[in-house]
Amino acid sequence: MTKATVRELKELKGKRVLIRVDHNVPQEDNGQITDDTRIRESLYTIRYCLDKGARVILCTHLGRPKSKADTQYTVKPVVERLRTYLEGVKITMAKDCIGPEVEALIAQLKNGEVLYLENVRFYKEETDNDPAFAKKLSKLCDYYINDAFGAAHRAHSSTEGIAKYVPAVAGFLMEKEIKILGEAISNPKRPLTIIMGGKKVSDKIPIINNLLNVADNILIGGGMTYTFSKATGGKVGNSIVDNDSIEYCRNLPKVAKEKKVNLYIPTDCVAADKFANNAVTKVCSPNDVPEAWEGLDIGPKTIETYKGILSKSGTIIWNGPVGVFEMETFARGTKQIGEAVASSKAVTITGGGETAAAVVKFGFGDRFTHISTGGGASLELLEGKTLPGVAALNDMEGK
Ligand code: AMP
Repeated sequence: MTKATVRELKELKGKRVLIRVDHNVPQEDNGQITDDTRIRESLYTIRYCLDKGARVILCTHLGRPKSKADTQYTVKPVVERLRTYLEGVKITMAKDCIGPEVEALIAQLKNGEVLYLENVRFYKEETDNDPAFAKKLSKLCDYYINDAFGAAHRAHSSTEGIAKYVPAVAGFLMEKEIKILGEAISNPKRPLTIIMGGKKVSDKIPIINNLLNVADNILIGGGMTYTFSKATGGKVGNSIVDNDSIEYCRNLPKVAKEKKVNLYIPTDCVAADKFANNAVTKVCSPNDVPEAWEGLDIGPKTIETYKGILSKSGTIIWNGPVGVFEMETFARGTKQIGEAVASSKAVTITGGGETAAAVVKFGFGDRFTHISTGGGASLELLEGKTLPGVAALNDMEGK
């Protein structure tokens, strides 16, 4: 990490500090928050600034509102949840994120107090990365701290544009995410094993291409399997296939061999006569799925092979469930692989999104070294891309 962090801000007392957090948490229709990991993970930076006597201004996006009229996207439930974690701290919520009313509230803010701005995406200028809007946000503060790893792959006004107008540093969560994911691929404890599951092969291609340069083992699972089967003339029935990626999958074993990466493709799967929990199922080769059936999980032989490799790994990065884990009938592979990862001695990392949901659902969360709070952002890091929200921050002195 070559970027300055909140630790580099020497004098925080009395300073107006705008922390861009990623409190874009999943919610039910009534606003009830179903997973507040992102709120909890942001507390370190918030508490640090409060303890140093800063006047903290919090800013997030929540969902994808089109305008202020989409009032269901208010940050109110988030603010209420945050209050439960910051007992004794005065937290005021603003009705907007810019403008005279917000400025007046900030003028009244005392050291050690919090002002939470309303959803920044109520303004289209946010996602447009409009410089005038970014400038208005920057005027609210003396320092800008970006702790929103989950939004760092977006060049928006509150994640990138603002950093041009005010001293800008990374928060602790941002630092942790980049350090752990970055080290896992630049300087891993070996062997480095990647589990690639999920169903959208085309989304995974840039990641596989980058990881082929660093990984020792790549274990394929999930719906991706059947595009490999199709590529070698296998019968896949109704299994999911990404026709645009067939050629890629056909060539991958050869490329992996050239790069000295061990590529593993499932040798058996659980096929079902319908996409339902009460389907009739059977274990078969992913190259021999009966007509009108579909492969929805990895099979027992594959699980055993993968467990053996995982137990000998130094670092494991898991991206994508190996079956339709949302349905109990097809969750076995993901559960068993999750258990194998959780109980290994390796550094264990999972990207955000579906994999994180599976890990949390099956109760392995505490036994992983790191569960990323950013789906898209962690994928882009694994692809080897620079995140705009990070690039925009000030460099650490001497770096
Ligand atoms: P992705 O967004 O590409 O990581 O895909 C995640 C989704 O892949 C999950 O919701 C799983 O239910 C789904 N999935 C995993 N294995 C399969 C499979 N064999 N067939 C269809 N979908 C699958």
